Amino acid sequence: MFSRFKALRNYSKHEVEKLKSSRVAIVGLGATGSVIAENLARHGANLLLVDRDYLEPNDCYSSNIYTPDQCEKSLPKAKAAEKELSKFTDVKAVVESLHPENTDILDSVALVMDGTDNLEARHLISEYCQKEGKPWIYTSALGEKGYSMFFRQKCFNCIFEDINTGKLETCETSGIMRETSTIAAAKSSLKAVEYLSDREVGEKLETVSGEEFDVDDGECKVCDRKDYLRLNSKRQTVAVCGEKKYQVEKQVSESGPEKLKKVADSFTENEYLVRAEVEGRSFTLFNDGRAIIEAEDKGHAEAIYSETLGI
Ligand SMILES: [Zn+2]
Repeated sequence: MFSRFKALRNYSKHEVEKLKSSRVAIVGLGATGSVIAENLARHGANLLLVDRDYLEPNDCYSSNIYTPDQCEKSLPKAKAAEKELSKFTDVKAVVESLHPENTDILDSVALVMDGTDNLEARHLISEYCQKEGKPWIYTSALGEKGYSMFFRQKCFNCIFEDINTGKLETCETSGIMRETSTIAAAKSSLKAVEYLSDREVGEKLETVSGEEFDVDDGECKVCDRKDYLRLNSKRQTVAVCGEKKYQVEKQVSESGPEKLKKVADSFTENEYLVRAEVEGRSFTLFNDGRAIIEAEDKGHAEAIYSETLGI
């Protein structure tokens, strides 16, 4: 199965075995993360798949591993990916967002792959990895731009310190070109394969067109001063890449899904979540009490959550 890979660049049996015995976390399983997951699964690396979201029809555009049937059923991305990729390797799925209180789910992996769609999540991954001395690989794709970078000594704050996250483009405003996201994901997958095979990987920001940029050596408040702002914060309501959707991190009792179904205009459900329409707004409640709600802003989403579920 791996002979074609082994023939490349003189990868030794030991290096291939090391890759296959590693476990890699992929956080976020959209246009980039799902491609990385498939690439690494086909190389035989063991995977930990972390994603908070469920499948919608447009996920069949941006990813190769999800089937139209899975998108139709609103399956959690982590579970749908687990089902497909378990055919190749050992896969564990976590249907949760990565937040400051559960980063320990990454403790057992050798490498973290960023498949997220927002800077806050990337800063959190970076701070965790910087603190734990664990390498990670950044991947992003927006419109026709795409980037990939391996981090080990440096951190995300070294290159993105002064950017106001609220004013940046998101996939909501820029869209995703699947060819671009696939190239960025392939570049990051290659870096992962090289790192897991004990090869040297440089810490340069690489674009999809192959340009490489060095990172300045100035003082960084995360690397140098150990100021872990995201890691030391509380989990909170956050915007989800999509049309005015927010994730509310509250817990409800076991009666939550029943309450939601009672007030819903319509709903569909699977073993992981209830996806309802309430007064014309999409309201998806996961089994752990977390919800993704269509709303005007964060406060509005929290109000809808409380009013709808009566807490
Ligand atoms: Zn830094």
